[in-house]
Amino acid sequence: MSETTISHFQEDTSLFFNDGNVVVAAAPLHGEGGLLFCVHKSILSMHSSVFDDMFTLPDLPADSTDSSNLYKGRPIVRMYDEPQDVRSLLRFYYYASMFPLTRYDPETPSKIEGILRLAKKYQIDSVWLRLVHQVEADWPTSLPEWDQLEGEIELRHSRRMEENLPDELPHNDDVYPEPGAAISLALEFCLYDILPAAFYHLSRTRISCDRAAKADDQGVSDNIAEVHEDGGRTANWSYLTRNDFKRLLLGREHIQRFMESKAFQFQNSSRFADCDLRCDRRGIEAKFQLALQSSDVLSELKAFITEDYATDGVCSPCRSRAKRDAQTLRQDLWAKLPQLFDLPMHKSGPWVLFRLDEL
Ligand SMILES: [Zn+2]
Repeated sequence: MSETTISHFQEDTSLFFNDGNVVVAAAPLHGEGGLLFCVHKSILSMHSSVFDDMFTLPDLPADSTDSSNLYKGRPIVRMYDEPQDVRSLLRFYYYASMFPLTRYDPETPSKIEGILRLAKKYQIDSVWLRLVHQVEADWPTSLPEWDQLEGEIELRHSRRMEENLPDELPHNDDVYPEPGAAISLALEFCLYDILPAAFYHLSRTRISCDRAAKADDQGVSDNIAEVHEDGGRTANWSYLTRNDFKRLLLGREHIQRFMESKAFQFQNSSRFADCDLRCDRRGIEAKFQLALQSSDVLSELKAFITEDYATDGVCSPCRSRAKRDAQTLRQDLWAKLPQLFDLPMHKSGPWVLFRLDEL
């Protein structure tokens, strides 16, 4: 590469160190212009064996004495990648303490997407593992984890309303993960373990509250404001592909069918042999059936476990039965999420695999 071929490149001042001993020239293969970073071979080599090999091999830019391969006296290494991605990676190396990655941050996927792409390509294992762990920790992979997060979100909203702190505490949307970006990231980098929770969460959000349309559509903006006031959450639907929408619709339909089959099983009068004659079992059964038709069955059934409903007039065996049934149904549904949404799964992940005809 000669000086002329990088004449349209710009130096990135935040990553152009005076004592740097290599210049990274980043631009896509057929792109125009790019960015130049003056960094340290030792830092690049320390994180990636690909760079280490590049600097130790003879006749490659690092050892070249050919002036056309030099920029301001330093050897040039060309990276055929998006300059912004390379900048994100180098910032992560040099300013790790200033790279804010907080748990549940809805912006995490967009912050790390470019870095993950380079970490994968250049086999930067330490960076890859740290970032993957960050994303995976944001999405529950078990029902107790799911319930814990849901409890936390609910509590936060209650505090916001009861203590009248709407200005001090941001909306749940600004604090907890957003499913659209997470699904897109998970599918690109095979982070399949987060998909069941992300798809289930997406399945209970409203497309009329698409964050991507918020800026251009007052109606959408009003819808989102309404959801926020109730402590609800929204998604950025622009990240979803045609296949993602197919999975989502399939999942909703499968959940509905699964619940219908369970509702049918409950219509058995012998189940109430131990019921007190004065018991309002019809009332509790009607509530239970209604919960099965909800767009958020996991949440609606939880009320029967915590007995967060009007239990007056319902006998103890019926209350216990509702609790048991709700527990079993929630566990079954959670375990079957990968099949219900037809998700790709790792063979050795935390999810148990079922066949759809077993539903
Ligand atoms: Zn009863």
